[in-house]
Amino acid sequence: MEREDREVLLCPICGCDQCVLPAGVPDIGSAEADTVLFCSVCGGEFTKGQMQAVQWSSASADLSAVEQEVLRQLEEQMNASFS
Ligand SMILES: [Zn+2]
Repeated sequence: MEREDREVLLCPICGCDQCVLPAGVPDIGSAEADTVLFCSVCGGEFTKGQMQAVQWSSASADLSAVEQEVLRQLEEQMNASFS
């Protein structure tokens, strides 16, 4: 039950955890930053490095760059509709 130590990387596109490692890579921990993974949910293709840059589900209060961008766009839309 050492699951806390496991590196959990989520799809940077849809945020799911159903990303498929390429053949020859037994687990995410042994993947290189430029290892290309595929998402079995949205079909996205991205590298481990990209996944690491987007930490959707980290329990910390830090918002990922994507989340910040989404929030910023939402804010802009709000501002636009109220002005
Ligand atoms: Zn996905």
